[in-house]
Amino acid sequence: MMRIEERVPLAPCTTLGVGGSARFFADCTSEAEIGDALHDARTHKIPVAILGGGSNTLIPDVGFDGLVIKVSIPGMTFADEGEGSMATVGAGVSWDAFVREASERTLWGIENLAGIPGTVGGAVVQNIGAYGSELAETFVACDTVLLANGASKTIDRSLAALAYRTSLFKHRRDLVITRATFRLAKRGTPNLAYPGLKEAQERGDPLATPGEIAEAVRRIRSEKFPHGEGTAGSFFKNPILPLAQVEALKKRFPELPTSALGEGRAKIALAWILDHVLNLRGYARGPVRMFERQPLALVTSPRARAEDVEALAHDIAKRVRETIGIDIEREVETLRAK
Ligand SMILES: Cc1cc2nc3c(=O)[nH]c(=O)nc-3n(C[C@H](O)[C@H](O)[C@H](O)COP(=O)(O)OP(=O)(O)OC[C@H]3O[C@@H](n4cnc5c(N)ncnc54)[C@H](O)[C@@H]3O)c2cc1C
Repeated sequence: MMRIEERVPLAPCTTLGVGGSARFFADCTSEAEIGDALHDARTHKIPVAILGGGSNTLIPDVGFDGLVIKVSIPGMTFADEGEGSMATVGAGVSWDAFVREASERTLWGIENLAGIPGTVGGAVVQNIGAYGSELAETFVACDTVLLANGASKTIDRSLAALAYRTSLFKHRRDLVITRATFRLAKRGTPNLAYPGLKEAQERGDPLATPGEIAEAVRRIRSEKFPHGEGTAGSFFKNPILPLAQVEALKKRFPELPTSALGEGRAKIALAWILDHVLNLRGYARGPVRMFERQPLALVTSPRARAEDVEALAHDIAKRVRETIGIDIEREVETLRAK
């Protein structure tokens, strides 16, 4: 039974572990509970913010003066479909629990995305990606609830506008995802092109099934991210730039890793710039620092505040702008009203 709590600290609901409290907080395990919570918020004219696993969210120190709805809808079903299986998953299910279940059923398509923290709902919003794979490759549709009136609406892949770390749901902030459907395949070919996996293959690690690949990805990831400290993974996005600008950067920095995206644009590796151009690996400002083993990730110590995270993030963005003339965008979102 859903209860609306008051003055709930939000830092423990996120992986960065900073920030203030929610004036009201509702942990919702069904569409009906989300509908009730939204109805209450409308009646009392309170702003609403949505939280999944909090692994891509920065909570401001002032907290949120409204209702935070945590989406905890459970459930996974797999419907056989000849060559594949349609998986329908509650938005509150842990993404990696979904990857594990799919692997156990030897279903292909999401194994390279193993070990990414957060919920299935958050994964869709962000169109998560890693190790040469993206959620968009298997996404079919999702069910949503409209903030304004609690009505249900299904958004299919043509409307969902999934692109590099973004989707319709980043702009249409009036939609709460309640469930998502993915098409997984019974047969697949291992995608081992990415560094890390390629090395594992050369070492002779077993990488023939979705489960083996997922385990290898989890192993590699566990060496790349901090343990026992706050982080939200990559804090900034890799910039996507017109080819002419990328060529000019390549002239200055011939070793800069880039990947062509078509339509006259390419993605550049911001971690390489932070590391090799700006020397920011391990760079600290008070209780927050750029992680030594992964300079795109920002790490917080237990006494850090959101303002410390903001200060370091602004500092980094300013250095990148001044040195290479690019405005970088954050991947991590600040909690705000829908
Ligand atoms: C150690 C670490 C490693 C990471 N590695 C990767 C990686 O390799 N690749 C990658 O892409 N990401 C990575 N991330 C980032 C993060 O895990 C993903 O973005 C994840 O999908 C966020 O899910 P969440 O449930 O935690 O979202 P939250 O942080 O709770 O929310 C993120 C945004 O989505 C919205 N939202 C959440 N749930 C819903 C919903 N049901 N309906 C509508 N809106 C919703 C929120 O309002 C917010 O705007 C990493 C994070 C960490 C901490």
